[in-house]
Amino acid sequence: MAEDEKQTARPRTSGHLEREEDRLWRYALWLLVVLAAGMAALSWQTLEKLPYRLGAVPVGLLVLSILFAVYAYGRRREVSELKVLLHGLHDRVGAAPSEEQLDQLSQVIMRSQRSFKELIDSFDDVAFASSLDGTLRTVNRRVVELLGISYIEVVGHKLDEFVEEPARSDVESGLARFLEKRRWSGLVRVQLKNNPRVLYFDCVLNAILKGDEVAGISTLARDVTEEREKERRFTELFETLQEGVYFSTPEGKLLDANPALVRMLGYASKEELLRLDPTAFNPDREENPVLGRSADDQGGVRTREITLRRQDGTAAIFLDTSRAVWDAGGKIIRYQGTLVDVTERRKMEKALQRQEEFQRYLLESFPDLILVIDLEERYSFVSARIRDLLGYTPEDLTGTKVEVGQEQSPEFLALCREVSSGRKLFSFCEYGARHRDGSWRTMRASASPLFDAESKLSGVIVSVRDITVEKKLEQQVIQSERLAAMGQMIGGFAHELNNPLTSILGVTELLQEGEATEPVRKHMVMLQQQARRAAEIVQNLMYFSRPPSPGKGPINLSELVQRTLHLHAYSLRKNNITVDFLPDNALSPVSGDPHQLMQVFLNLILNAEQAIREVRDQGTLRVRLGRAENSIMAIFQDDGPGISPDILPNIFDPFYTTKRPGRGTGLGLSICKAILREHGGNVEAASGPGGGAVFTVTLPAAGKGPTPAASGA
Ligand code: ADP
Repeated sequence: MAEDEKQTARPRTSGHLEREEDRLWRYALWLLVVLAAGMAALSWQTLEKLPYRLGAVPVGLLVLSILFAVYAYGRRREVSELKVLLHGLHDRVGAAPSEEQLDQLSQVIMRSQRSFKELIDSFDDVAFASSLDGTLRTVNRRVVELLGISYIEVVGHKLDEFVEEPARSDVESGLARFLEKRRWSGLVRVQLKNNPRVLYFDCVLNAILKGDEVAGISTLARDVTEEREKERRFTELFETLQEGVYFSTPEGKLLDANPALVRMLGYASKEELLRLDPTAFNPDREENPVLGRSADDQGGVRTREITLRRQDGTAAIFLDTSRAVWDAGGKIIRYQGTLVDVTERRKMEKALQRQEEFQRYLLESFPDLILVIDLEERYSFVSARIRDLLGYTPEDLTGTKVEVGQEQSPEFLALCREVSSGRKLFSFCEYGARHRDGSWRTMRASASPLFDAESKLSGVIVSVRDITVEKKLEQQVIQSERLAAMGQMIGGFAHELNNPLTSILGVTELLQEGEATEPVRKHMVMLQQQARRAAEIVQNLMYFSRPPSPGKGPINLSELVQRTLHLHAYSLRKNNITVDFLPDNALSPVSGDPHQLMQVFLNLILNAEQAIREVRDQGTLRVRLGRAENSIMAIFQDDGPGISPDILPNIFDPFYTTKRPGRGTGLGLSICKAILREHGGNVEAASGPGGGAVFTVTLPAAGKGPTPAASGA
């Protein structure tokens, strides 16, 4: 009895509570609407005054709150109905439901079906249920979208009306197994009749059971076409890439490799390659595996050059660009990367480097200086020979402009312009270049155009040779040939003049001894003096044309110079000329004729004295002795006016003189040259550093020089 009372009391209490709650909700929602209306009325007036059209805002707000209140109340009703129903079901199990309850239940079920439909329609995946013969019973929105037709046209129709692939026969062949397992999942390749594009679906099929019988199939399929495409593209890339691609363990064991890598390492198949242990790729088995984690690897991208052993045992160089892959715990689980075979490239680079080095050595050891001048007239290449030729380093000139002045001559620039302008394909010139030490050198430059890879003119290549020595020798040969020819002619004249002069001198002497008046005697004396001077000149001419063979004996050159200076000391002193001489008795002796050599020195001293007197009434004659490899030198330097470059090549010519008539015959230096030639030596003239003239006499050290030529040669 008490139990019965409890049963009737519970619905009553719960019904009462429901009503109370319902009322509370109603009040709350009414209050919300009233509040919204009040707020709208208040704010409407304020907003109306504003210049903007904001009057609709409060109205909108009011409408929104009413709509919300209606919706919330509706939902609340549904929930409370379900609650009551549940209570009813719970409390009256076994009892026949009332008609009202049945009605409520069917409404709830309908709503639930609608919700279910909404649910499966909201899936992005394909979902449908079909009977075993393939008739579609239920389909979701995605199926309809995919087929591009309406629900009515799909539901009740067979699947193979829309699907080209998989074919019905394929489906049927798998049906028996499905019926046994009642579940199947896998990837299905699908081609719809309305679209030629092949799609891939990841499908899960479940049996729909009626009792214990399979009545149909529910299918949930996810479109994985994009993923499959990506995967296919990736696989295609992996398979066709020309670079080797690998995955390895941190210990260096290969996990996967693409065909390119298999080929690069010379293996027949990937399986063969993957079977190898990590050290099999090491050129030296003792070392750590090359592909694994290296000691210094921090796990970032590593780009390095590695050497791997090929199947045939040869070593190949690879450019490895790889990185570590970490697990969630921060541990390196594998390495993945690409390998590019650079063996050939490295070989070529080495060959190229060797070739470049060879070219560099070639240019550096080439006897000529090689210069490349670009079209802007800058030195773009200067070979190292410049150090020997002009005392500069290639760096001093490279990049600088070719400028006439300190280191370059106008002839050189003109030569470059001639070739760079295309006026000439090949040209050469001789020019004077100044060595860094200040001395002048004679150069011969040959220039030709330089073309780039596109056969476009890119500059001028010039090869420069120092021809100073050759030029000097050439001049000496010319001079000695000229002297020899003149010598012969002069010798003939001198002989012819010698006899009449001897007669004139004899007759004047006789006449002087006879009785003659004073004026006649004076004339006789003058006649004799002039005849003697003429005879002296004739003697000198004969000496020049056929100098006597030098007597041979060892001579202390220092002593001989000293003696000559003594002989002339009075005259020098009289003319206020200081002699600055440093004797050197340790000099090796020279072989020759002391009288003839004294004549040479005297001539040079006299010339110096005359030159100084020409410009001032005092001066210094500096005499130094020196030794070169096989010769001894005596250098006479004065502080006179010096010798201008224009007359320098002529001063050793016979009869060349700049002195006024009667003072010079122009024979002094040519006789010196002739005497020294007989001694196997030479005399050269140059301008002194501070003005003045410098004469350098060179004689071979005794026993070292060439045998002096025969007299008169
Ligand atoms: P000469 O003395 O009779 O003129 P040389 O053959 O001795 O003949 O000299 C030839 C020329 O060389 C001289 O006329 C002079 O112009 C030049 N010369 C020789 N020695 C000197 C010197 N020390 N200083 C300047 N000029 C010189």
